[in-house]
Amino acid sequence: MPGIWHILGAGSLGNLWATRLARAGVPMRLVLRNAERLADYQAHGSSLTLVENGMARQVFIAAQTLDNPEPIERLLVACKAYDAEQAVAQLAPRLAENAEVILLQNGLGSQDSVAARLPHARCIFASSTEGAFRESDWRVVFAGHGYTWLGDASHPAPPSFLKTLDDSGIPHEWTPDIVTRLWRKLALNCAINPLTVLHDCRNGGLLEHHCEVATLCAELTVLLECCGQPAAALDLHSEVLRVIQATAANYSSMYQDVANGRRTEISHLLGYACVAASRHQCPVPHLQHLHKRLITHLASKGLRTD
Ligand code: NAP
Repeated sequence: MPGIWHILGAGSLGNLWATRLARAGVPMRLVLRNAERLADYQAHGSSLTLVENGMARQVFIAAQTLDNPEPIERLLVACKAYDAEQAVAQLAPRLAENAEVILLQNGLGSQDSVAARLPHARCIFASSTEGAFRESDWRVVFAGHGYTWLGDASHPAPPSFLKTLDDSGIPHEWTPDIVTRLWRKLALNCAINPLTVLHDCRNGGLLEHHCEVATLCAELTVLLECCGQPAAALDLHSEVLRVIQATAANYSSMYQDVANGRRTEISHLLGYACVAASRHQCPVPHLQHLHKRLITHLASKGLRTD
């Protein structure tokens, strides 16, 4: 059947996309990690529930495991950054020639690792400001409306599925500057998220640490320029302050991961920035110190540090 979407990663963001696409009648399969997860999903009625503005809506969606033989033409990868490469590698034999693969991962690094595994697919990178969380398995809450930017640094022509996103009410924009957007978001994340963990505060709590924030922003600005991303560096400090104020009452995603004893995406955020700085011989002593402090903190909580 042409036009089927396969959704790899039935977590918060994967379910948010899946339910909206399914509501619009888009043919789709959830791809679950193993027979146990599939059995659990089937025991829950083979349906996902999307809670939006306090209203819960159940959507029935077919599911399968990674080793199902069905060919894949369009794959939405909604795993965490640290799982994406391995999960996609398991699906690689099922991908049709010129398949489209949409990568929703935050941070940087995982997109290139996935693309390297799939030389015959078209990898489309995404950066999203939408927010969702899993209330329980197979039930997701749409927590923050936002926007998803999509782009393909090597082929500027937009893919045909953007019309499907329009029809599904998924706010999006095709951009030639997706890599710049991902760098910009990574820089915002590096300036805010680790400090909220280390100072044990909401985003707004960083207003009491403005010198530390300013120092990190200065280093991140130089780093972005060293990495050939001057557009991502423009007025970074002002935007970081704007985001801190606009989201003052929120806990950052990294804060929530740590608070819930979950692995963070540190390697694809601050870790990626520090590795890029070393590669470009760009001195970032405060970022490196922050990285070390964060690793020590995660280890003290018994969490993975990679
Ligand atoms: P999540 O809720 O943890 O969901 C990840 C899903 O991937 C889980 O359902 C997990 O399966 C699945 N998975 C992992 N390895 C798999 C494998 N080998 N085969 C099949 N499924 C596999 O994560 P998330 O919050 O949706 O985040 C996904 C990405 O989107 C992250 O990079 C995140 O930073 C980014 N993002 C998230 C949001 C948001 O609001 N949530 C917003 C913007 C960006 P199990 O359920 O079996 O563990």
